[in-house]
Amino acid sequence: MDTILTIGSHSSLQILHGAKKEGFKSIQITPENRVKFYSQFPFIDKVIGYNNEDEAVNLINNYVENGILIPHGSLVEYIGSERVKKIKTKIFGNRNLFEWEANQKKKMSLLKMSNIPTPMDFENPEDVDRMVIVKLPGAKGGKGYFIARNKAEVKEGLKKLVSTKIIDNEEDVIIQEYVIGVPMYFQFFYSPIMDRLEITGIDIRYETNVDGLKRIPFTDLEVEPTFVVVGNLPAVARESLLPKVFDYAMSFVNTVKEKVPPGMIGPFCLESVVKDSGEISVFEFSGRIVAGTNLYIYGSPYSWLYWDEPMSVGRRISREIKIAINEGKLNEVLT
Ligand code: ATP
Repeated sequence: MDTILTIGSHSSLQILHGAKKEGFKSIQITPENRVKFYSQFPFIDKVIGYNNEDEAVNLINNYVENGILIPHGSLVEYIGSERVKKIKTKIFGNRNLFEWEANQKKKMSLLKMSNIPTPMDFENPEDVDRMVIVKLPGAKGGKGYFIARNKAEVKEGLKKLVSTKIIDNEEDVIIQEYVIGVPMYFQFFYSPIMDRLEITGIDIRYETNVDGLKRIPFTDLEVEPTFVVVGNLPAVARESLLPKVFDYAMSFVNTVKEKVPPGMIGPFCLESVVKDSGEISVFEFSGRIVAGTNLYIYGSPYSWLYWDEPMSVGRRISREIKIAINEGKLNEVLT
């Protein structure tokens, strides 16, 4: 295995940059209209365009002998979950987690089984007794999410989503208590080879228009906040928060090992709100590299503490593969 490939979007630049730094061949498989963009980067050995998703799967499968596909947040979005099952080339990480991630309720159950504090959720709009956020299935960058102050607003919002065909039925959403605090996305890497959990960085998502609304002094504007992610801002946490979130992450790793074999491999993220009491409420997780790691191509304030060299998460992935190859344990990091 000497080739790292990924799909041209999300965090592909740091993944391939890291692959090259660790001595692998780097292949970008990307929608045809992005070939020119990606071709300008000298660390990408080959950029291959595709015109449709089936073609993308075939291109990935051409590397079944010597390639490793690095999944990221756009893989399932771009290729579709059914087609992803047809990928025969080995994937770095646990591909069994995709199915858990695609279902909001299953996803939250993994956090709960880990005894991580999560926002309260409501099965039935009728039970809503506080401010909530209503979330749609799949990682769509927060598109279509809405905040409601009471059950009447939840019902009204759900009707709108169904009538505009954004969702097929009302059961597809999750209704979660809206936690007041500040968002922090804690990024981790679990190494099954070193049996080590590393905190690799923290980010905050920059979302339009909710973050833009803060700039406007009027409070009576008739503008709905929306949560479409357009970028990420760096953050470090008060050091006293770190042991707590580290415990949560370790507990999550243990749960995934038990419930979703072969367990957590590589990067993941606990998407959280930190309350003024210091309590951390985790409202979601990502079981693979998150785009917020793009902030730290040269390493984060935390990655330096483990490696003392520039270590992006993209590079960390290739480093794990390299260590696994050297120790004859490659099958422990691939599925
Ligand atoms: P995806 O990762 O699925 O593309 P996303 O992660 O951007 O979407 P979320 O992070 O779940 O979507 O939520 C979007 C926004 O709503 C974020 O700003 C997040 O901080 C906020 N948010 C989500 N859940 C809660 C909650 N229970 N309480 C308060 N804020 C929340």
